[in-house]
Amino acid sequence: MAEQRLETESRKLLGRLRDVMASQAAGQQRLNQITRLIAESMETEVCSVYLFRDAETLELCATEGLNPEAVHQTRMKLGEGLVGRVAARRKIVNTADAPSAKGFRYMPETGEEIYSSFLGIPVQRLGEVLGVLVVQSRDARSYSADEEYALEVVAMVIAEMTELGAFVGEGDALMARHVQPVMIRGTTGQEGTAEGHVWLHEPRVVVTNPVADDPHRELDRLTAAVEELRVGVDKMLEQSEDKEQLEVLEAYRMFANSKGWRRRMDEDISRGLSAEAAVEKEQSLARSRMDQVTDPYLRERLADLDDLSNRLLRILTGQGKNTGAEMPADPILIARNIGPAELLDYGRALKGIVLEEGSVGSHAAIVARALAIPLVIHAGRITTEALNGDYVMVDGDQGIVHLRPDETVAKSFRDKIAMQAKAQQRYASIRHSPAETRDAQRIALHMNAGLMADLPSLDGSGAEGVGLFRTELQFLIRNQMPKRSELSALYGRVLDAAGGKPVVFRTLDIGSDKVLPYMKPNDEPNPALGWRAIRVGLDKPGVMRMQLQALIRGAAGRSLTIMFPFIAQLEEYRWARAEVARTIASEEKLGHVLPRKLRVGAMLETPSLAFAPQAFFDEVDFISIGGNDLKQFFFAADRENERVRRRYDTLNVSFLSLIEQVVRRCEASNTPVSFCGEDAGRPVEAVCFAAMGLRALSMRPASIGPVKSLLLRTDLGALRAEIDAARVSGAQSVRQAVMEFLRQAS
Ligand code: PEP
Ligand code: MG
Repeated sequence: MAEQRLETESRKLLGRLRDVMASQAAGQQRLNQITRLIAESMETEVCSVYLFRDAETLELCATEGLNPEAVHQTRMKLGEGLVGRVAARRKIVNTADAPSAKGFRYMPETGEEIYSSFLGIPVQRLGEVLGVLVVQSRDARSYSADEEYALEVVAMVIAEMTELGAFVGEGDALMARHVQPVMIRGTTGQEGTAEGHVWLHEPRVVVTNPVADDPHRELDRLTAAVEELRVGVDKMLEQSEDKEQLEVLEAYRMFANSKGWRRRMDEDISRGLSAEAAVEKEQSLARSRMDQVTDPYLRERLADLDDLSNRLLRILTGQGKNTGAEMPADPILIARNIGPAELLDYGRALKGIVLEEGSVGSHAAIVARALAIPLVIHAGRITTEALNGDYVMVDGDQGIVHLRPDETVAKSFRDKIAMQAKAQQRYASIRHSPAETRDAQRIALHMNAGLMADLPSLDGSGAEGVGLFRTELQFLIRNQMPKRSELSALYGRVLDAAGGKPVVFRTLDIGSDKVLPYMKPNDEPNPALGWRAIRVGLDKPGVMRMQLQALIRGAAGRSLTIMFPFIAQLEEYRWARAEVARTIASEEKLGHVLPRKLRVGAMLETPSLAFAPQAFFDEVDFISIGGNDLKQFFFAADRENERVRRRYDTLNVSFLSLIEQVVRRCEASNTPVSFCGEDAGRPVEAVCFAAMGLRALSMRPASIGPVKSLLLRTDLGALRAEIDAARVSGAQSVRQAVMEFLRQAS
């Protein structure tokens, strides 16, 4: 009975809040009315609303009961006092004796010293705290769990009203949301800068009716929507063959059938929330929990719940992906995360990409790099802050996003873009000239690629060919193993697009950081040192044979260059080469045209290979130094581990000596050698490699201009003398000496 009375009370209060929302009153007036209504309904002396005036400061915006003079005057930092504590921890504080509660701060201007009890509720929407709702009373009253819950429902409605701009008025705290400039610091995913307008990959669902009159109708709507969702998930489950996707879908099904989830939403509805607002309330809860849990499994499940809530909201509001909004001409894609295939669908139309999650090695990042689109990852809160059409500047070099920037920020950003554009013009002017140093040494500059989308850069960058085509990318961006016919068609198209320029196809390099979504992951203690690349190819030759056939058929009589990754000793190269010979023989028998010329090389990615028997250097057609892996094994420093990956300098004398040794051994056997790790694309490193004797480098297309520009200005002989002098001086790294030399030379 008591429960029913409370539900009726709650519905009545929400109904009155809705009337306030529908009224013509100004923002401040509405907020005043709301605090009065709540105080009345809960029979407390005080009800106050605090909202954020900036990211760190809360401001008292309306009150019933406290000194009205304190409105817009009383402020507290996040975490300060009980109110600041509620906001910082996103947790309710409920105490009958506020002055003795932990964190209490006395604010004389409010006159609150006479109030003993305090109940503070975070006003939050989708995990974002917008403010704090507080009720207080003079006597040492204990607010019941039911009252706490009722106020939580009210806080939800206030959050929705804030989002809808119901309180917009004077002062920063009552400013319309999503208008202030915001700077978000993330991490570089792909360098480069871009400016444009926000295009949300998943548009926000806007709930325009947080309060509903008829709970029965809302319950029916929710039941129908959950049913539709359940049927949808079951259908996806039936169709999916992908193991990982199946796991996610199973989790969805679990939530869709979860009684607790449903019961809480039903209760919210019986207290007057609309079905959408009830779903969003649960979603908010899941988001704030997500920020607090560290267990990766739990976090994933909460993320699943978040996604499921979005689907449910779309069903309820009818707001699908297609909201009718038109993509701006200069779109900057904003998403929590995005799959590689979806990103490829957008293609080069995008000017920039900002992801709330993502990782440097993620498939989306690989695609962004292939498309040369500036990408910032780990941009916290970007999806809650950005609205479709907002002006945004992306600084991929620094990993910073400026959303709705003010004029000064915009100006300095544009200056940076202009400087880069000037540099680009300079690079374009040397695009077709050879990379010849001041002392007439010719360095061949090639590009790294892996997707069809990379190929247009061949011409744009002035690369002489593709020095590394990472074939695994085609495997990584799919949900299932590509077929041989698909691959051979693709390799054929790559060669067509290269138009006679050489392309080095590296066979599948999977394992370690590159895990195929459709292959059973191996539980290895040290995947980087585990069963990967050529080791998989030799132990399970089926896939390697299929790929070799696809390459031969794709070449269709043209020249073909194949490179094996991660060769650690001569034997492995011999086995791999024998596999090529067997495949050639069988292809011939089957009547396929054989390549006009065939070259088979090896990547030198383990220090062991630098010390291989001379026969290796004699037998191999060419060598490419995979500096990313070679450096990680040489220094025993994980290339994926942020803590250690930059710890050892590439220009460390030991590493340069290793390079020198490889170059010398290759020269002795007349074996062509190149360097294709990321360091080849760094101008200072690149000129040092050239000084150590390397005559071919392969890098990201965007690096070719800057590297060539520095090579043209450098006397390699003089640089080598400088490096050698630094080596004998006992320096750990030659960087300082090299930088000084380059400064003086320029
Ligand atoms: C390398 O290891 O340097 C390399 C080019 O290969 P990947 O980065 O694909 O491992
Ligand atoms: Mg490698």
